[in-house]
Amino acid sequence: MPPHSLTFPQTDDFVLAHARVPLCLTTAGALPPAGEGLGACDLLIQGGRITAMGAPGTLGSTAPVMDCDQGIVLPRLVDLHTHLDKGHIWSRRSNPDGTHGGARVSVMEDRAANWNGDDVRARMDFALRCAYAHGTSAVRTHIDSLGKQAAISWPVFAEMREAWKGRVDLQAVALFPIDYALDDEPMFRQLVAQVAHYGGVMGGMTYLGAVDERCHRALARLFEAAAANGLDLDFHVDETDESEARTLAAIADMVLATGFAGRVVAGHCCALALAPDAEREDTIKRVADAGLSVVSLPICNMYLMGRTAHRTPRWRGVTTVHEFAAAGVSVSVASDNTRDPFYAYGDLDLLEVYRESVRILQLDHTGPDWLRLVASTPAAVMGLPDHGRLQAGLPADLIVLRARSFNEMNARPQNDRAVLVKGRPIDTTPPDYRELDPWVGAP
Ligand SMILES: [Zn+2]
Repeated sequence: MPPHSLTFPQTDDFVLAHARVPLCLTTAGALPPAGEGLGACDLLIQGGRITAMGAPGTLGSTAPVMDCDQGIVLPRLVDLHTHLDKGHIWSRRSNPDGTHGGARVSVMEDRAANWNGDDVRARMDFALRCAYAHGTSAVRTHIDSLGKQAAISWPVFAEMREAWKGRVDLQAVALFPIDYALDDEPMFRQLVAQVAHYGGVMGGMTYLGAVDERCHRALARLFEAAAANGLDLDFHVDETDESEARTLAAIADMVLATGFAGRVVAGHCCALALAPDAEREDTIKRVADAGLSVVSLPICNMYLMGRTAHRTPRWRGVTTVHEFAAAGVSVSVASDNTRDPFYAYGDLDLLEVYRESVRILQLDHTGPDWLRLVASTPAAVMGLPDHGRLQAGLPADLIVLRARSFNEMNARPQNDRAVLVKGRPIDTTPPDYRELDPWVGAP
């Protein structure tokens, strides 16, 4: 039992009183300011929904009260970019040198040797229980979809999406090197059909070096296949410290040239931070014009980028989040990998991701609205209007903190948080790693 455990009334109808809510995540008007972009607020919870929000003492309800004592109340958060199929294999297959190249080889070997349906299912379910316990309401996962793996992992994903309905909303993206669209036409066609069948999103990992004619052809084929099947796109883009990696601009140009009607997400975009100023500004403008959404994976990329043995890293590995936001580009941060060769740690805890993003991206001292990065912005990208916001009429899917300010929130891991799902507190204990020993071995 955490030291400041929050005790909720044993009823479906109650008032969360004397809370502080981020004003950037609510349209509830006239809340007294409580510093740092927070507003003082009472929330009336009835039958699993927020039915009213207002200044403290103004709701006129006689329902039992849970006094938050100025603690921050957040909506449950939204994870736009994860890899549930890779998660938690670390004790079975680590990363030989901590690099992106080392990760790719290790995952390929582990996938070939171990990723049957039962293995993928056990690790996905474990990861989702972590995310749920920490207060996540929706997760988009990339699914390694090369060759025979697609037929193994996509049905397991569909099973998980059904099993988790009402607790965590799930979306999946097919992941493969974009060359696949050119090199194996029959398998690529089959994959497109499968993604459409499961209501997924097309993805792909772009080139990690300079853009050539072949890259353009692969992107064109992907856009054509997505358009023909009414699918959205979500790419892994320029996840490298090679500054000549330029596929982000190529993707933006492809959207502008084709008038592609679906949503397009670009993940990582690390190399852009290393481009010369004029080129970076030009690329950001094209991304804004094309209406791309960007998702940065700060914890994972700080782990992978700029790594050379016995040499201190010189950069943080993250894309230009401030500049994208200033240009009006939809920008989010998300978890990415957890305890696999691409990132050794992590637990799908978006409060951890946000806290570390504040440090890595220096989001402090630049305005109070950054919580959108893990809440309303990724919810909008995923097409989930009920998620990531606080508003009367929305489900009472909430994270209730003892922290009263963003300083208190970001200083500690918030292990004493309460999580409400449809107005009911859930068990916030993450699952025990020992459960995975039969699959990945004990460390
Ligand atoms: Zn990723």
